Amino acid sequence: MSAPGGRVPSRPTNTMRVRIHRGSREIGGNCVEIEAQGKRLVIDLGRPLSAQPDEHVPLPAIAGLAGGDPSLLGLVISHPHLDHYGLANQVSPKVPIFIGEAANRILREAAFFSRASFAIPAAGFLVHRKAFQLGPFRVTPYLNDHSAFDAYSLLVEADGKRLFYSGDIRASGRKAKLFRQLLADPPVGIDVLLMEGTHVRAAEAPVRAGGTESDVESACLQTMRETDGLVLAYYSAQNIDRLVTLYRAAVRAGRELVVDLYTVAIAVATGSKGVPQPGHDKLRVFLPHNQRLQVLRGKAFARTSAVKACRIYWDEIAARTGRLVMTMRGTTERELVKANVLGGANAIWSLWDGYLSVRSGQGSVEFCRRHGIPLLVHHASGHAGVTDLQRLVAAIDPRRVVPIHSEAAGRFADLFPRVVCHDDGELWEA
Ligand SMILES: [Zn+2]
Ligand SMILES: [Zn+2]
Repeated sequence: MSAPGGRVPSRPTNTMRVRIHRGSREIGGNCVEIEAQGKRLVIDLGRPLSAQPDEHVPLPAIAGLAGGDPSLLGLVISHPHLDHYGLANQVSPKVPIFIGEAANRILREAAFFSRASFAIPAAGFLVHRKAFQLGPFRVTPYLNDHSAFDAYSLLVEADGKRLFYSGDIRASGRKAKLFRQLLADPPVGIDVLLMEGTHVRAAEAPVRAGGTESDVESACLQTMRETDGLVLAYYSAQNIDRLVTLYRAAVRAGRELVVDLYTVAIAVATGSKGVPQPGHDKLRVFLPHNQRLQVLRGKAFARTSAVKACRIYWDEIAARTGRLVMTMRGTTERELVKANVLGGANAIWSLWDGYLSVRSGQGSVEFCRRHGIPLLVHHASGHAGVTDLQRLVAAIDPRRVVPIHSEAAGRFADLFPRVVCHDDGELWEA
């Protein structure tokens, strides 16, 4: 059933055609090419989650990504997670890239602090339910609920066909209202629903409990209340919902949330005043050694002067361990040992628990074990459980459901109606 990879022929046709380049059988690395009237559009250009940090992953075989083929009209990036944008730094500057405006700012800020991130030169920004035209393609972004900020589902229309790409989506985060809005007012007449299935698993695999952000808040609050010393919180600075969750729990527990400069940069880049950032009561900023070096090297002193009023230093941290929640990264662990602030501490792992068994996470597990710090997992997934996906399919009522971003595409047919699986590289009509 798989056709050989390579470019979609640019011979004009009267039907929208689709090729999933990556993602039909795996979680992440999404890349979908859509063709109509000899023109093409690419949705997402992700780095596979299986790729090693320094591994070079070549571009998928899509004519024009590296330049030289004007029939490629653009690349639309659904959200700022590496498994959706991670190969975009190899794309020719001639290819227009579209992404959310806040997502674009977040990537620019992340690039200052992290080698894995890079800024994207955007040709235009995605706006919730505001359609734009790219040649024969009409693209309507739908802001959605996901663990990345400024994430979108995408409606693509051409040649009288309508494809809805769910992107990464959930119904249990702080923007669950957007999921409800999508169910209440869905795009109509959808031919293909290209839907993520992170939590669609092989029949024999255990079903993972799907908690919500408010469940995580309650669990964190309880841990914070029961801890005598510092609460160490491991979480992604780019998971803004989780930053809000930890901040709310800290305030309810009578503590202050101590964030680092990277977290501040991302929070400010959201452009949302409601997101905890300098100026918010009970939010303090600590400058770990590696970030101090980054500021010095980049002569980015505006970053430190902007947080002067809420800076916190080791002497205050040591004196008030029971009143603080400390943002943790693997790189700051040694500094905490040196400052001798770990007595009575508990640690919260607020990331995917799968990271605990890979190298980066194992370092933190070992750190906690060595210092006798209990490590508690309080986390909720960025992806919808099967029941929510079933609600999505029922609301959109597409003519076909095509799996993507799943390791168990073969299970879709047991769970959803009118499922058709397409392999990576296979060309099919919408
Ligand atoms: Zn993803
Ligand atoms: Zn994602």
